[in-house]
Amino acid sequence: MARRTKVYEGKAKVLYEGPEPGTLVQYFKDDATAFNAEKHQIIDGKGVLNNRLSEFFMTGLNAIGVPTHFIRRINMREQLIRAVEMIPIEVVVRNVAAGSLSKRLGIEEGTALPRPIVEFYYKDDSLGDPLVSEEHIIAFGWASQQDLDDMVALALRVNDFLSGVMMGVGIKLVDFKIEIGRVWEGDFQRLIIADEISPDSCRLWDAATGRKLDKDVFRRDLGDLSDAYTEVARRLGVMPRNSANIAKPTLIN
Ligand code: UDP
Repeated sequence: MARRTKVYEGKAKVLYEGPEPGTLVQYFKDDATAFNAEKHQIIDGKGVLNNRLSEFFMTGLNAIGVPTHFIRRINMREQLIRAVEMIPIEVVVRNVAAGSLSKRLGIEEGTALPRPIVEFYYKDDSLGDPLVSEEHIIAFGWASQQDLDDMVALALRVNDFLSGVMMGVGIKLVDFKIEIGRVWEGDFQRLIIADEISPDSCRLWDAATGRKLDKDVFRRDLGDLSDAYTEVARRLGVMPRNSANIAKPTLIN
């Protein structure tokens, strides 16, 4: 049997060559990292939950015409995706002040923002993913003005979709991060949502109690991360009630 080729290994995922040209297999690991990987822990089952949750969000986005790299889930930890040229920018959308915005501007966490705020961060671990402006992105050639316009439009559509879905299950979407890639169709290029959408890359607060149901549970030592993610998955109906115990072999359809 031939060994498959690893294309890339990141902090939470591995990419392998896919079965056809233009595809990749995205494998979700159990590793949780924060503060530029200074804090690291293996959280049993996190990869399984994020694989399912990212599938759920990306499938929903595809269905409303927001293009994503997701093709189909292969198994508990892997999904087939389209290969893209990644744009080296993290796009963050915020509805409520939290995290680095609160710290940078002295705005109390939990303050509702007057409108969704879109921010860009340059993806470079050695620099700690610095906040950058559209000027930097265009001047340094990371993306064009047209790309940026498309990226903002995509990010705001994702925000509307995710906010609505989460509010429907009693969860407030505080902020989230997406990554975007370029695909070529003949002579034309198109931008699509890539990477993952999961509680690793969103801030999710219980609408009634404010309980954190995202990676801040790990960053700030607030309890069991997999309990929080399981709660999100359970509310969205993407995990059967008893599948939190992933140690047992289970049949998947
Ligand atoms: N985020 C992410 N990856 C990063 C940085 C941020 O997924 O490398 C997400 C984070 O989970 C949050 C949003 O982007 O939902 C905004 O994060 P923020 O800028 O407040 O930074 P943090 O407080 O996470 O350092």
